[in-house]
Amino acid sequence: MADYPCDLHVARYKGPSTRVFLNAYRDDDCLQMRVSICELCLDQLLEPWAGRAYVKVSERDWDPIEEGQDLRGLWRPQERGASARNGTRR
Ligand SMILES: [Zn+2]
Repeated sequence: MADYPCDLHVARYKGPSTRVFLNAYRDDDCLQMRVSICELCLDQLLEPWAGRAYVKVSERDWDPIEEGQDLRGLWRPQERGASARNGTRR
């Protein structure tokens, strides 16, 4: 099984390659960041989002994430063409 870098706790992890991209918008400006991340750091990163953020459920629709909802059930197959936009594994 391949391993990948976790940029947050600066170590390598085994398992599926997981990447996080952050797009923040302020008026006409944009801040874009990305990390390769392990499961544990991903759980910690997403914890404050649960019960507050919205999740994209279709091209136009975003549903609120309910408090205590298991975020693992929200994963969907990646949209076609998204890999070019969101970068590749490393
Ligand atoms: Zn990590």
